[in-house]
Amino acid sequence: MCLTFWLSQLCRGLPRRIGRTTQPVWDSLSRNLVLSSQRRIPEFSSFVARTNTCGELRSSHLGQEVTLCGWIQYRRQNIFLVLRDFHGLVQVVIPQDESAASVKKILCEAPVESVVQVSGTVISRPPGQENPKMPTGQIEIKVKTAELLNSCKKLPFEIKDFVKKTEALRLQYRYLDLRSFQMQYNLRLRSQMVMKMREYLCNLHGFVDVETPTLFKRTPGGAKEFLVPSREPGKFYSLPQSPQQFKQLLMVGGLDRYFQVARCYRDEGSRPDRQPEFTQIDIEMSFVDQTGIQSLIEGLLQYSWPNDKEPVVVPFPSMSFAEALATYGTDKPDIRFGMKIIDISDVFRNTEIGFLRDALSEPQGTVKAIRIPEGARYLKKKDIESIENFAADHFNQEVLPIFLKANRNWNSSVAKFIMEEQRLELIRLMEIQEEDVVLLTAGEHKKACSSLGKLRLECADLLEIRGVVLRDPALFSFLWVVDFPLFFPKEENPGELESAHHPFTAPHPSDIHLLYTEPEKVRSQHYDLVLNGSEIGGGSIRIHDAELQRYILATLLKEDVKLLSHLLQALDYGAPPHGGIALGLDRLMCLVTRAASIRDVIAFPKSFRGHDLMSNAPDSIPPEELKPYHIQVSWPTDSEAEKSALNHPHHPES
Ligand code: ASP
Repeated sequence: MCLTFWLSQLCRGLPRRIGRTTQPVWDSLSRNLVLSSQRRIPEFSSFVARTNTCGELRSSHLGQEVTLCGWIQYRRQNIFLVLRDFHGLVQVVIPQDESAASVKKILCEAPVESVVQVSGTVISRPPGQENPKMPTGQIEIKVKTAELLNSCKKLPFEIKDFVKKTEALRLQYRYLDLRSFQMQYNLRLRSQMVMKMREYLCNLHGFVDVETPTLFKRTPGGAKEFLVPSREPGKFYSLPQSPQQFKQLLMVGGLDRYFQVARCYRDEGSRPDRQPEFTQIDIEMSFVDQTGIQSLIEGLLQYSWPNDKEPVVVPFPSMSFAEALATYGTDKPDIRFGMKIIDISDVFRNTEIGFLRDALSEPQGTVKAIRIPEGARYLKKKDIESIENFAADHFNQEVLPIFLKANRNWNSSVAKFIMEEQRLELIRLMEIQEEDVVLLTAGEHKKACSSLGKLRLECADLLEIRGVVLRDPALFSFLWVVDFPLFFPKEENPGELESAHHPFTAPHPSDIHLLYTEPEKVRSQHYDLVLNGSEIGGGSIRIHDAELQRYILATLLKEDVKLLSHLLQALDYGAPPHGGIALGLDRLMCLVTRAASIRDVIAFPKSFRGHDLMSNAPDSIPPEELKPYHIQVSWPTDSEAEKSALNHPHHPES
């Protein structure tokens, strides 16, 4: 079969909207899962004790003798039993005649969630007893033999998707939680997408899948790394935050096009959408520029995208970092809705409103605003209060939101200080309509924008709670953010610089001269990929010149170059120009499946506080086992322990 034929076949699947998955998982998955090279769904019953899966049986199987293995989902009046496997549910008729007493006993006595094997004939359900909601609802199994493979004790929770359970309990019994249709769907879809990504990268574009070490050494800059003790006194490995150095070294090694489904580690403490270990689709290419990487990723996502989701439209739009910050107040804008930030400094040049006048008298002072369409209609008094509280809690004094209803009587404590011409100019600039609310803030450009950016999202949440549809949940809105600065001032010491991406990122060719005079003004060849307001990937064209790399590390970033001597040396031995990117697979899957949390697309995730609630890792080690590592625990004193307990108040582990 020619390549173009099967390519067009693969891309053919018509996009369909589906909501959150209910059972059966299989219907929507099977639309995606077609082995591209053979055009058929996989064989699920090869090599095992069953002839068929529970979920696959239809009227076309009538009369067939089948053997099924599955879990008892429920039993009705000792007459019917519903058997479940990953593929779906099927109804089994428990035989009632004396001759089948032993079969009846097994099927009636086995507790729910016991695992059984049954053999029998596929028969039609009696007229009127069909269940159109069940894909197997036309048929049932007339059982001849049954075997209890393993019994199930009383469960900590019912294996039914609609039964509510805390996340801590789900994580403690993760192996049971995985039996849910939703988790089955999430993990299977993830596997399918990764498979298609491999196919696209390796088979269609000649990439090489290379595994790189996870026992490595500490690297300068970036996220905090986990340490692994070694048997040599005082020497530690470090778990890499990404295979960054290795993938660049592979380019020096002539591998030319590398990819890896790479496990990465960052010891960054608890954040709701982060995990201490996570997975990236890690990519590096030689002789490539920014547009090359972007086209590759657009093709990769389009190719691997599930057929039953809204399709990926390429090319993705692109926005500079400066524009993203000025318009959306963030480097990861959600462009599915407007409410853009507008600079209204000129309207208030001669204002009597104190905090605006004060802000504008500062060198970088600005006044900015966003317009909440129909905000006055949808937002309740308590919503406005919650926005005010949010602003007060999250931003310092310089940012003050005020609320101006756009009708004749502008409803704000400062309304009387806004002159008629200012009002008209504001209405013109911001296209204010009756019933809108305007949120206004003043301060230094970056600070004012990022505060409004957060308020914009907060307002969007509130409006959606009130029933306004702002962000179509079925839509996938990708965006490239480009032209980042190469450096940011360090938060804790603004006189010093840190890399905006990482220290191996190449400067923008037209800004290189500024490196030696005004490094803070240099733009970089760094690009981020944003999906619906979440960063799902990032990468850069790299520095392949050892001299330039050394200058940036040592002179501008004040890093210890000795730690990177292997990389600097490698660059000196004919390193090709190269660049790459990494996609955060967990976050991507979380958005694709519309999961509530990143933990819902990972088989065995860590809790919010980095614990494995199932096995209780991290766990203590007896002192004698620490001896070979020359390590001693310095136990916290009582007062230190108390302090730490205060910093980490008891909250649900999730
Ligand atoms: N290693 C980078 C990261 O993990 C991605 C890249 O630059 O390719 O963010």
